[in-house]
Amino acid sequence: MKNICILGSTGSIGTQTLDIVRANQDLNVVAIAAGSNIKKLEMQIREFHPQLVCVYNEEAAGKLKTAVADLDVKVTAGMEGLIEAAVYDSAEIVVTAFVGMIGIRPTLEAMKAGKDIALANKETLVTAGHLVMKAAEEYGVKILPVDSEHSAIFQSLNGENKKEIDKILLTASGGPFRGKTREQMKNVQVEDALKHPNWSMGQKITIDSATMVNKGLEVIEAKWLFDVDIDRVQAVVQPQSIIHSMVQFKDGAVMAQLGTPDMKLPIQYALYYPERRYLAGERLDFAKIGRITFENPDLDNFTGLKMAYEAGRMGGSMPTVFNAANEKAVAKFLDRKIGFLEITDIIRYCMENHHPVENPTVEQILEIEQWVYELIESRW
Ligand code: NAD
Ligand code: MG
Repeated sequence: MKNICILGSTGSIGTQTLDIVRANQDLNVVAIAAGSNIKKLEMQIREFHPQLVCVYNEEAAGKLKTAVADLDVKVTAGMEGLIEAAVYDSAEIVVTAFVGMIGIRPTLEAMKAGKDIALANKETLVTAGHLVMKAAEEYGVKILPVDSEHSAIFQSLNGENKKEIDKILLTASGGPFRGKTREQMKNVQVEDALKHPNWSMGQKITIDSATMVNKGLEVIEAKWLFDVDIDRVQAVVQPQSIIHSMVQFKDGAVMAQLGTPDMKLPIQYALYYPERRYLAGERLDFAKIGRITFENPDLDNFTGLKMAYEAGRMGGSMPTVFNAANEKAVAKFLDRKIGFLEITDIIRYCMENHHPVENPTVEQILEIEQWVYELIESRW
């Protein structure tokens, strides 16, 4: 039996993790945490019987406590509660499925407590990659990528030597606006941006896919996970989302992982690594697919990806600014307070006004996050 903790259990990755728990007999959910969706949390508690549940929102936590008073479960709240869930004694592995930088402290604390991390929460790695990778070494814990591209790279590296990587070919669908110019994206509405061609995901990452900021975050994520220079991570548009990413080695060989677009595969692979388990679902039918096509990303119209490379090259606290500005801008776009193109305008503005700090501490990262939010509020 493997005991797991799921941080962000009510979201897209969280609920798909629970689908895997449901389909297998040897996974046991001991702790879960989420933002405020107590209706879903109550259903999850009644089905999976975790011993500890954290609701970040205090008021919602109080309501949940009353709703599950008939059960033997502890309900906590706030950042302290998230950390309590992250370090929960009997958990072996923590699935980090929070959206956003909120995951930094719980992830680092889980690692300090000796937990392996099945990492979906890329914003934590983008903003605190130097701290997370150091902690993995220091505490001897594994970081198992859940992001489909990074899982594909991880699978392509099975039995290989990381030192022999020439470059990483990070595939991208191109999102719903592939082929459009900035001019054509000017009046894009929230509904248009939420229509991803191949994946059904949480709202924030779906908008990130439309701006291609998601691919930018993933370039930085790959740099940390696989210890390669950012310019050795090449984004390649592969609109059918059949190839989930590839690795080119120094002898020119290219290894790839392919499959139908289904996040359950990378989640399950991370939970059982290095074992492969049966996973129900469609299999690839190559004759039916017919062709898989490739193109270069359009960095002139999708400036979010270009700025991610810039932030990644500058390093230090610049990726924090890139990420925090994007989080705030996407929230504003989803609230219909700003237009689609303003997301990248905001990121640009914040990056231009920041003097990066080398090797920022957690405290500095969180201070810079606040500085970014205030800067944006003062102008937009
Ligand atoms: P989502 O919005 O569907 O779910 C986010 C989860 O985080 C929810 O459970 C929510 O309650 C929780 N959360 C948000 N704010 C919180 C807070 N302050 N305190 C506690 N919990 C909080 O998001 P998602 O699509 O599942 O994405 C989660 C992460 O996985 C993101 O980093 C995303 O980039 C990454 N990811 C997602 C997918 C996907 O298919 N959905 C694929 C690859 C990577
Ligand atoms: Mg991805």
